[in-house]
Amino acid sequence: METILTTHHVTRVLCCAFGPTTNNWFFSYKERALGGAEKVMVRWGSTCPPGLISWLLDPATKTLRRDTSRLHVVLGPTGSFAAWEPKAYRWALPETLQAWLTAHGCQHDAPRALALGHGGEYFVLAKNGAYSFRSTSLKSIEAAGHSWKSVQYITFSASLPKRCIVVFDDTYTAGTVPTSANTTGTTQEDEQEEIDDFRRVLDSYAEDYIQRGYIPQRHNQDAQRAADVLATRLKEEAAKKREEAARQKEAAAAHAAKVHAETIARQAHIRKQAEEQAQRAAASKHTYDAARQKHEAEVAEARAKKAKAQELAAQKAQAREAAAARAERNRQIRERKAKKAKLAEDARIAKEKAAQERAEKAKLAEEEAAQERARQAKAQAQQQAAAQEKARLAKVAEEKAAKQRAARLAEAAEQRAAQERARQAREARARWEAAEAERRRPELYRSWAAARTRALDCSPGTLRRPDFPQPPAQICTCQLAGCVQRKTDKGLRACRHDMEKLLRASGEYSMAWLRKERLAWHPDRFARRCAPGSREVLVGMATEMFEIYDELIDDL
Ligand SMILES: [Zn+2]
Repeated sequence: METILTTHHVTRVLCCAFGPTTNNWFFSYKERALGGAEKVMVRWGSTCPPGLISWLLDPATKTLRRDTSRLHVVLGPTGSFAAWEPKAYRWALPETLQAWLTAHGCQHDAPRALALGHGGEYFVLAKNGAYSFRSTSLKSIEAAGHSWKSVQYITFSASLPKRCIVVFDDTYTAGTVPTSANTTGTTQEDEQEEIDDFRRVLDSYAEDYIQRGYIPQRHNQDAQRAADVLATRLKEEAAKKREEAARQKEAAAAHAAKVHAETIARQAHIRKQAEEQAQRAAASKHTYDAARQKHEAEVAEARAKKAKAQELAAQKAQAREAAAARAERNRQIRERKAKKAKLAEDARIAKEKAAQERAEKAKLAEEEAAQERARQAKAQAQQQAAAQEKARLAKVAEEKAAKQRAARLAEAAEQRAAQERARQAREARARWEAAEAERRRPELYRSWAAARTRALDCSPGTLRRPDFPQPPAQICTCQLAGCVQRKTDKGLRACRHDMEKLLRASGEYSMAWLRKERLAWHPDRFARRCAPGSREVLVGMATEMFEIYDELIDDL
């Protein structure tokens, strides 16, 4: 909206309304186009109530369908609004206010004044003079003795509670009350200072309007309304624009004084000229001409006055616009500087924070590394200790094993030595026994031969098992595998090698001798001598003896 005011050639403000948020506004105005013709324009902010926009636009063509030159719009908090044109109206307001408007016929004719404020504050004045309001600050104004029927314009602050401006026919007032009972002294002082500053600006502006007699003229109400809307904006931005407003006031005062002085001078000049002309006319003999000239002079004077007044108004408006533009530029510059400073500050803080974080991270990493090193050193020490212990155990085990091996070797050597000694002893004994047997063989043979003779000479049927001439055990020493088996299985317990050694001890060993001796052991002959109970065993042993003799004979 500021863009519209600063870049378009706005010749007249028709209706201007502000809601509580930045883009909640409505603005209709007359604009001078390039060709010089005036046209009515309507603009609104992006957060205007959707109900209002749908009422303004034709649903099919999406173009404006309202009488824009006589459109009146009021915006309030939380999407509330009221809008009129001569033929139609639309509103979205608290129920009590809507009921009041309907009861007073406001749906046919817009009220003379309607204002919506913060937290449900409102004021309404119908064409017939009836009024209603809900506002703490208006109560204090009413208490001061103002008549609501003479209200020309009223507005509430959309963003701050309990603040309003009321313009009456002959005066105006701005009502405020502290926002909270708990407000501190400092805040109250600040608030009061802000209000005082705003009042100084508003005073110069509104008094100018009232003194120039604009207010009672109905056709100037639109301009008045626009001026008051501008004043409302100034109020909202008063704290920011304090210095600019003061400067603007000084400039406006200086300019007004200058213009006033010029006007007086011009008026004096015109009056002087008119007087001179009148004197000339009076001097003239033609009374009619003189009267006519006097009339013309008066007309010219009136025209000049009117032209001067218009010029004055235009110059003043230009001065105001220039001052506003300057203030806006200064404000933008200050905002940019503030933003830049804030950005720089933010960047510095972020940088410091990042550096701090980096330092903390580095410290943390160092601590972790130190811990890791300590852990590694400990682990290494443990590993070394374990390895040393393992080596020690291995050495002990090896020593033990070596000792065991040595013990086993010693034992084995001892066993071998013992076995060797035993074997040597056995061999020595065997040799001794062999030698002894060899020495004793003839004797053994004589003993065995005597037993044989006794057995063979006994009476038939009397020979028993103990009488059998058993080969002496001293000579039966053959260890050949077949012979050992034979001696185990059969009763004689002697092999041909044993018998050969025995018989050779006779000194008569020969083929013939063996054949003669063999006859005595023939089983048929021997059987006759055996006792009946021992015959079978004895015959078996005799048969064995007979076969050995056969083999010995075959060997020769
Ligand atoms: Zn043998």
